[in-house]
Amino acid sequence: MQTMDEIVDKLVSHYVAPLHDYNAGLSVEALKKKYNVSKIAKLGSNENPFGTPESVRKVLNEMHNLAHYPDPGCHELKVTLGQRYDTPPSHIVTGNGSEDIINMLCHAFLEDGDSVLTVTPSFGLHILYPESHGANVIISQMTDALTFDIDDLTQKLEHIRPKLFFIASPSNPVGCTLSSVEIDQLLSHQSSDTLFVFDEAYFEFAACEDGYCDVLEKLKSSGKPFILLRTLSKAYSLAGLRIGYALCATENMATYLNKVRLPFNVNRLAQKAAIAALADAKHLEKTLIWNKQARAMLFNELTKLDLNPIPSQGNFLFFSTSMPSVNIAERLLTKGVIVKPWAEKNYTNYLRVSIGTDEENQHFITSLKAILNETG
Ligand SMILES: *Cc1c(COP(=O)(O)O)cnc(C)c1O
Repeated sequence: MQTMDEIVDKLVSHYVAPLHDYNAGLSVEALKKKYNVSKIAKLGSNENPFGTPESVRKVLNEMHNLAHYPDPGCHELKVTLGQRYDTPPSHIVTGNGSEDIINMLCHAFLEDGDSVLTVTPSFGLHILYPESHGANVIISQMTDALTFDIDDLTQKLEHIRPKLFFIASPSNPVGCTLSSVEIDQLLSHQSSDTLFVFDEAYFEFAACEDGYCDVLEKLKSSGKPFILLRTLSKAYSLAGLRIGYALCATENMATYLNKVRLPFNVNRLAQKAAIAALADAKHLEKTLIWNKQARAMLFNELTKLDLNPIPSQGNFLFFSTSMPSVNIAERLLTKGVIVKPWAEKNYTNYLRVSIGTDEENQHFITSLKAILNETG
């Protein structure tokens, strides 16, 4: 007799069965319960440390009727985004977080055995979602100095001609960005078989740095197919509501994505909150100024501890230790600090820490120093 588990194991898609779980980290509630700690520094998911801005809380408080479905087309939000980024609303796709759009992209464009190119260390879903749709994911490993290996990428773009090419800039977890010259190099090796998926989840943090290359402008003027992904989860503080968007090269690209989109994927609260958050220039400015200052402070502290942080344009730092990072992360948890230990092959001594409030950053540094002292 077959057990129920054996039957289910036979029924499940053979793309899905071997996937490993996405590591979404611990919540504050789960951590409090597990280690009985009261003070928590949640620095594992690159969230905005200032919380929900007053402007967003105000519109949410006014939403009394949630009995109606949301606008499936997110019309008002697309008009707002379209004006801001000089893009027709018909070229914009909205998602339940930008991760939702990554999934739509894979669903809409990938077939059995198609090739996808991406970089490691990387944002896990750039690998997981393509694999779940049966694609063959080809990896370009970053250089030893943790910069994009442009020669390797251009060679792979030219020879493999992948259907999708996923790249995040600023990179998550490293924090480095592609320069204008590097983007040109990648674009010049992009064949007509490849859709360039540029994930700019940390756009706002990078755009306020000197020398930021206007990625959208560059992609638009390239005349090649692209999709630029952005989110309101990071700089705009809306991770808990789930809202991200894509700016597509053409209207028909957006049309194809919309065919596989769940009709009501972006809820009413998220649509309203996103418009309010985009209008709140003060909250964004405060976030960006603090991020830059606190990131420099943390960078210094990590450097003093010989942990080799990589210069970052995001709201996080990636650094290496002399032991498996899961051990350090686990001990940080006992002290109430949540960070992200990297699990990808070759990077298992690395940790990623988000830039928090002053109190959270101090809590992290003090706890980390204590752990490094204990272990010698
Ligand atoms: C956080 C992040 C996302 C996902 O953001 P959501 O909009 O919250 O789904 C996508 N890409 C990268 C690189 C990220 O770091």
